[in-house]
Amino acid sequence: MIKTLKGKISTVYIWLVLMIAIVGFTSVFSFHALSRAIDGLMVNNYKSISAINNMIEAIDGQNTAILNYLNNNDETGIDLFDKNSDRFYKWYNIEANNITELGEKDHISKINKDYDKYIMLFSNLQEIKNKQGTDKALDFYNNHIITLYNDLKNELKDLSSINERAMFGSKDKVTNDTILIMYVVLGLSLVAVIGGYFIATFFINKFLKPIYTLTESIKSVKEGELQKEISVATSDEIGLLAHEFNNMTKRLQQFEHSNKGKLLEEKNKSIAIVKSISDPLIVLDTDYKVVLLNNACEDVFRIKEEDALNKHFLEGIRNRELYEYISDVYKEDNEKISDKIMNLKVDEKDYYFNIVSTSIKDRDFKVYGIVVLLQNVTKLKQLEKIKTDFMGTISHELKTPLTSIMMGLSLITDKKIGDLNEKQETIVEAMREDGERLSSLISELLQLSKIQSDKAVFNIKQCSIIGIIENCIKRFNKQAISKEANLYFEADEKLPKVTIDPEKISWTLNNLVSNALKYINAGDEVFIKAVVKGNKMYVSVEDTGVGIPSEYQKIIFDKFVQVKGEDLEMRSSGIGLAIAKEIVEAHGGEIWCDSKLDVGSKFTFTIPI
Ligand code: ADP
Repeated sequence: MIKTLKGKISTVYIWLVLMIAIVGFTSVFSFHALSRAIDGLMVNNYKSISAINNMIEAIDGQNTAILNYLNNNDETGIDLFDKNSDRFYKWYNIEANNITELGEKDHISKINKDYDKYIMLFSNLQEIKNKQGTDKALDFYNNHIITLYNDLKNELKDLSSINERAMFGSKDKVTNDTILIMYVVLGLSLVAVIGGYFIATFFINKFLKPIYTLTESIKSVKEGELQKEISVATSDEIGLLAHEFNNMTKRLQQFEHSNKGKLLEEKNKSIAIVKSISDPLIVLDTDYKVVLLNNACEDVFRIKEEDALNKHFLEGIRNRELYEYISDVYKEDNEKISDKIMNLKVDEKDYYFNIVSTSIKDRDFKVYGIVVLLQNVTKLKQLEKIKTDFMGTISHELKTPLTSIMMGLSLITDKKIGDLNEKQETIVEAMREDGERLSSLISELLQLSKIQSDKAVFNIKQCSIIGIIENCIKRFNKQAISKEANLYFEADEKLPKVTIDPEKISWTLNNLVSNALKYINAGDEVFIKAVVKGNKMYVSVEDTGVGIPSEYQKIIFDKFVQVKGEDLEMRSSGIGLAIAKEIVEAHGGEIWCDSKLDVGSKFTFTIPI
């Protein structure tokens, strides 16, 4: 039993070579035998015919010798007769030893007998001539010898005919043999070709079958079917390969089991961590179906994870405001980690959450989910409220005494209670200026706390933004001229009316223009612009002034933020922009700043139409 694939292939190859060799040898042998048959048959017959011809010529010569003898040339006649007798016997012996055909032997023995008789008749003729004379001898020749001579000749001709016929017969036989050999060789070649084809196909299929099985199994393993075993029963190289392959898949299975276990453990740990996060957390897929919820989320939204899983956000969590925010963030810019403060009422209690929505991406940056974290900022909001209330109270409490101080000061500066000397006048003027600044700070603080505590009254009307801009220009024109600055505006006359509190929006615009004029140099420009894009109106105040460092641009809208290193003279409260932000957001808009140091700043706010 051959075990190796190499051995099996070699065996098939040897078999094929053997078959070709058999066909080759058979052909060579057959053609050799054929050529020998042709040679043998032709040569023997030809030899007989030649010998017979010589024998005929010899008896012809003897007949001539007899006629010479009868013409009284005794010696010449006898001599010629003997010579031809020798010649006859020489060729007779050759023919007698070359009997190849049926009946040839009978003819030769008859010729032998007749020829002996012929020799004897010539002896008789000699005796008659010597005793009875030439005439009697001539009669003897005519009556006996000539008849025998003719019989002998006919015998020899018959013998020659036998050989001639045999010669032609041999030719036909050779032709038939050649055709037979041709068919034999053709048959063998056909057998070799068909046999070779079937042997090759059979063995190729037999050898390749385990390779196909192996390939199929490798494909399955590649697709993750690690339990797949290859059943290759051969013990050749492919069998060994299959055995090693099965070993490999077993090892992979063990590896996968141990890794799966670890992964499962890690996954459970991660889930436990996520679940125990004190802030609500929701994981969604890209169709907004709930994938995971933590315990805090269950408490806040009063739902159970198992009820919400695999359900659409609106069905599972049932909070449209949050859904709209998440879907906006996801649709607009799914790279953005966004945040928004949202108010939720649970059991009549107010909760505030800073919502952070992040897209989850795979290695190819393809989004496959969204994580929404609701950072609980209720406490911070409460603290802020306390601060705002406190600020409001303090401001309120300060406002009454400050009003009476300012009234006293104006009585003094108006010289209604007596004259002041120059020194006293300077001091009182300084006190009045500081008092006014303090008074405006207190008013701003009061305004801010009112807006923040929802106590502010918004007087909402439909009005034209162009009117507000024109009033603003009128108000700050003088200041711009004194600063040698160019203050101008651009707005489409067909701008739609907006629903706003005109006083508060005027206040916002004025604050932005006043800031711009504060932070420009002579020859700079302040440009107000109002445009409509989509369903929003964009109002911007752009200046070519000193600009704001980038680290301040985000925090500039917080309270009391002022750019460091600013001229002390320029300093004021730092709450103008905070109030502007509150007003704009109360209108459902947004405010932001784009600025570059030494190039200028652009403040833009939007108003929904
Ligand atoms: P204030 O009421 O004191 O002007 P704001 O809140 O309006 O305070 O502004 C805060 C700070 O922002 C200012 O102190 C100033 O440093 C900076 N700022 C505001 N507007 C501009 C501007 N157009 N160019 C440069 N800096 C500005």
